[in-house]
Amino acid sequence: MNIPEIGKSKDEILAALQAFKSNDMDWKSGRVWCYVYNPGEDPAEVTRQAYLSFLTENGLDPSVFPSMLKLETDVARAVIRLLRGDEHAVGHLTTGGTESIILAVKTARDMARVEKPHITQPEMVLPRTAHAAFHKAAHYLCVKPVLVDIDPETFRVRAEEMASAVNENTILLVASAPSYSQGVIDPIGEIGAIAQSHGLLFHVDACVGGLHLSFMRKLGYPVPDFDFTVPGVTSISTDLHKYGYAAKGCSVVMYRSKDIRKYQIFACTDTTAYTLINPTVLSSKSGGPMAGAWAILNFLGEEGYMRIIQEVQQATQKLITGIRAIPGLRVLGEPAMCMFSFASDEVNVYQLADEMGRRGWYIQGQFSTPLTPRNLHISVNHGTVHNVDALLQDLRQCMEIVRGKPPLDSAGIRAMVSAALQSPDPAAAFGQLAASAGLVGTDLPTEMAFINESLDALPDEICNMFLVNYFNDLYV
Ligand SMILES: *Cc1c(COP(=O)(O)O)cnc(C)c1O
Repeated sequence: MNIPEIGKSKDEILAALQAFKSNDMDWKSGRVWCYVYNPGEDPAEVTRQAYLSFLTENGLDPSVFPSMLKLETDVARAVIRLLRGDEHAVGHLTTGGTESIILAVKTARDMARVEKPHITQPEMVLPRTAHAAFHKAAHYLCVKPVLVDIDPETFRVRAEEMASAVNENTILLVASAPSYSQGVIDPIGEIGAIAQSHGLLFHVDACVGGLHLSFMRKLGYPVPDFDFTVPGVTSISTDLHKYGYAAKGCSVVMYRSKDIRKYQIFACTDTTAYTLINPTVLSSKSGGPMAGAWAILNFLGEEGYMRIIQEVQQATQKLITGIRAIPGLRVLGEPAMCMFSFASDEVNVYQLADEMGRRGWYIQGQFSTPLTPRNLHISVNHGTVHNVDALLQDLRQCMEIVRGKPPLDSAGIRAMVSAALQSPDPAAAFGQLAASAGLVGTDLPTEMAFINESLDALPDEICNMFLVNYFNDLYV
């Protein structure tokens, strides 16, 4: 668009914005099994009003807006207590799991620069199931990710393999509680012991699990210790905008003590402008996400979260049992909370996802790796629990439909992909292949199975190059 010469009316503008959503997935129906965490109308409305009431306040300077300091310390303290940190534990609010993770890695890197100056090429040890945010942090911060395979039955990393990956350049160990992909918890206690015996920092990614698992424990579910009660855990990330049901833009990064956290904070007086002191990545930041998080924690209270979590766990159990009973489908591992994935040895699950898509469901495909089959992921949340029976019924029917269809020619696709890889510019050659399958612009093809199968066949490095090119073309 062009900036209009003369401004438009409020009604016209708001109507236009609403209209932009017409092709979006209808998350309000509860048929989208990822991306959105919906606490229900009343809590969402309180969050919305709280968010708007702090839209304009700026977290850049707590001396001008002490309200922002109050919001941040209140929310951080509440989450630290839930994760059983003692009075020395500290934390900051960030814009999301990715920022929390980037900061935990930066803190480890900068602490090592001071305390282990002999390390010139820092490394962090990551299970294969660690979130991509760690790879992004590694890329941004020049820390080498050292990947550790997982157990192909449980999808948890083995502590002894983490230990074997440690060397004189290691600055940080990482584990998940739980991992996003299969929703299982790594052996946090054992890895904590390894961190202690090697004098290493250990970050637990509890972005999805921090709140949900802690309330599950309070409800009496068996939950292994994954928080500050585990010796050796030095930092934890927990997202409020996932199973805290807060508005997007809010996560907490926590440290066992200020001695570690100080390496996160950045100050700069070397310019002609104002004195800058930033504990997190952003400088100017809206109070909206913090106020939204503060509001929903207070509105739901422990009782409200426990009610939601109980109902989400019951729905998850029903879904897992139901999927296990569908011939040809199997749930991967033993999911610890309300996230899991399932695979099939009999049909191509990407075709199943397409078939479900025709009925208005969105189920996320995950690519295969040497230790995981191609699979579909489901995250259950309050906004989807009423759809469990409907989802199971459609899954059963769609399995039969997919069985009746010609299977995707995986071998043929893999041959085409191999041919593209022989060309001088494999990512570009693959781009042509993808375009011929309909992957151009923003209109995604309704048949994603072919695309997913092709992407899955690509070596990771080429696949990443192709995806970068694709986004480079997609946006202005
Ligand atoms: C979502 C998620 C992240 C990244 O969080 P964002 O808020 O999307 O930046 C990191 N780790 C895990 C386990 C996650 O599920």
